[in-house]
Amino acid sequence: MGIILATVNQKGGVGKTTTAINLAAYLATYGKKILLIDSDPQGNATSGLGQNHLDLEKCLYDVLIDNEDASNVIRRTSIVGLDLLPTSPRLAGAEVELVNEPERETRLKAALAPIKDNYDFIIIDCPPSLNLLTVNALTAADEVLIPIQCEYYALEGLSQLNNTLDLVKQSLNPSLKIRAIVLTMYNTRTLLSDQVAEEARKHFGGKVLKTVIPRNIRLAEAPSFGQPILFYDPSSSGATAYESITRELLEADQLVSVEE
Ligand code: ATP
Ligand code: MG
Repeated sequence: MGIILATVNQKGGVGKTTTAINLAAYLATYGKKILLIDSDPQGNATSGLGQNHLDLEKCLYDVLIDNEDASNVIRRTSIVGLDLLPTSPRLAGAEVELVNEPERETRLKAALAPIKDNYDFIIIDCPPSLNLLTVNALTAADEVLIPIQCEYYALEGLSQLNNTLDLVKQSLNPSLKIRAIVLTMYNTRTLLSDQVAEEARKHFGGKVLKTVIPRNIRLAEAPSFGQPILFYDPSSSGATAYESITRELLEADQLVSVEE
């Protein structure tokens, strides 16, 4: 049965998309069947996998607003086992149009119901906002993955995110869980990164993954080549860290036994 995981944090630029793309790609290399859904009109997950959103005939907008079957919009990617439900800037219109739609919070959930079991994991990359697109993702999801950037103000806004998660749990998705917190852009040379990491572990305890993602230029370069880090530079520190995050998540699920 497929697990739906949303990368969420209304703060911009914290590593949601980088985490979604690279986790999806590594999970696929472990033989899992993965669907990555780009639910951000910026389209960074779409372009980060080498798809040009200007070429797209159909995208998530058509699924959410025009009831297009998700299976007609999903495309294969260059990574075996990894499919993409892409987006385009048109999705920005959906944010507004959804307001007047019936069942506006549950449209993504309904669209995924017929395909959920075709995948081991469906990863939804959320926009930097707590808007209706994010609410749709949280309503469809089983679990959320929260990236936290190891910088000033990192923990600010998390109480607002928590409130949103609670509201969604109360009214739309009672079994929604925080799966894990991922510490991103960790800078080994600053005390600040350590302080943020310590603070996050105090707050969230064992939910914080042991592996931290270092600040690594190769991770920032990879999207402009339309490649996940495992193709762009598999021996970089960023690649090693995302592979390790993937193993942590899989081992916690005991979905595979990974040999050390
Ligand atoms: P948004 O809120 O705009 O959707 P986001 O939370 O999805 O942003 P990303 O797009 O993943 O964040 O990352 C923000 C920027 O930082 C991008 O340019 C990305 O390439 C870069 N980046 C992400 N993670 C790292 C890292 N560990 N080291 C260096 N650069 C990184
Ligand atoms: Mg993003």
